[in-house]
Amino acid sequence: MNKWIKECEGLFPAAKGSVREVKRGCGYPTCKRCKSGEKHQGYLFTYYLNGKQKSHNVPKNKLEALKEALENGKKIEQLMVQNALAMIQTDRGKKKK
Ligand SMILES: [Zn+2]
Repeated sequence: MNKWIKECEGLFPAAKGSVREVKRGCGYPTCKRCKSGEKHQGYLFTYYLNGKQKSHNVPKNKLEALKEALENGKKIEQLMVQNALAMIQTDRGKKKK
């Protein structure tokens, strides 16, 4: 238990979901970038809530922090898989007795 808490402590904040790059118009009719078809680079965070896919715009200054949090989330998922394996192995050991 202590080991688990210590490992998770170093992985905060943790997030789950995915980030992808998107190009889109800004909505201003006078924007030269949009008129040229170049549009604006943005980042979209997509995630699942109650089985439904949702997405949120990611401010550029928050992008790096979010990516780090997602990496932490993946590491925690790995730790949880290890927890599951440890549980199964313990059960197996008990049955043998
Ligand atoms: Zn624009």
